[in-house]
Amino acid sequence: MSTPLLELRNVTKIFGSKDNPTVALDDMTLAMDESFPKIITVAGESGSGKTTMGMLLLGFYEPTWGQVLFRGQPLSALKGDHLFQFRREIQAVFQDPFAVYNPFYKVDNLLEIPIKNFKLAHSSSGARELMEDALERVGLRPEETLGRYPHQLSGGQRQRIAVARAMLLKPKLLITDEPVSMVDASLRSTILKALRGLNQEFGTPIFYITHDLTTAYHISDYIIILYRGSVMEAGNVDTIIRNPKHPYTQLLVSSIPWPDPDLAWGGGEEMIQSSQVAFKTITGCKFAPRCPYKMDICDTKPPALFSLERDHAAACYLYRDSESLAREELASLFAEA
Ligand code: SF4
Repeated sequence: MSTPLLELRNVTKIFGSKDNPTVALDDMTLAMDESFPKIITVAGESGSGKTTMGMLLLGFYEPTWGQVLFRGQPLSALKGDHLFQFRREIQAVFQDPFAVYNPFYKVDNLLEIPIKNFKLAHSSSGARELMEDALERVGLRPEETLGRYPHQLSGGQRQRIAVARAMLLKPKLLITDEPVSMVDASLRSTILKALRGLNQEFGTPIFYITHDLTTAYHISDYIIILYRGSVMEAGNVDTIIRNPKHPYTQLLVSSIPWPDPDLAWGGGEEMIQSSQVAFKTITGCKFAPRCPYKMDICDTKPPALFSLERDHAAACYLYRDSESLAREELASLFAEA
């Protein structure tokens, strides 16, 4: 088996003090291969660990336990050429990509920096061509975009510039965290289309982090549902959104406006609001305090991921008669037939 591009190996991330720890991600193992150009959503409510997972993969957080590996090397030990390669091959698009950007720099600067740092062009006219091409690919007119300051652009335009910047580098993996949550609904599809374009044209796998199952359903091929730092359900997005098996996923799906008008929605809010539970004391399934199907076995130990179909598994004792997957087999759910 080839070395994965990026890998979480038994990664746990704990925030807070020794007396009051919060487990943001709980013993997660997931290997991502660059030859697998799919879009995988990581979804869950606030506090599910989805953003923590992205931050760990980007090297912004250090794991409390376990390792994050880039091409087999621990991220924390990357230096020189390996670090340069990581910074080029793994790109990110955040909720507000301009939040950390100097508001007095023009848009051109955001695109010129990677061109210069990664020597993508040999002349200023070559750099200009690259910028114009990248902007056009995300549906922006270069003459209306270049030369402007961030505040002169809409949220949707700024987000598309961030996608254009990622396209310039033709990354091996793009990690996006809530990329459309701050833009108008009317612009969401344009940005999602730009991300899909990056995925289809360059074969770039995308890790799409969101709380929004509707956009997840529209853009992704596979989905991982996280709850309190653990995987509840994972696999084919169409199967899971249309026929969720885990009680938590059922709750999430029931509380979103569903594109299928025949399917009822709503009713999940009450369960979401009544979820204040002391999770530190839980030894079994983390969802047990909210679960309407809870059984005695649910309090004994955390359920394994039980295989439901070739590309679908749920961590729930309701399916304990099915074959269980080893932790490191999570990525196998996203493999082509
Ligand atoms: Fe509910 Fe038990 Fe399944 Fe947890 S393992 S989701 S408590 S049925």
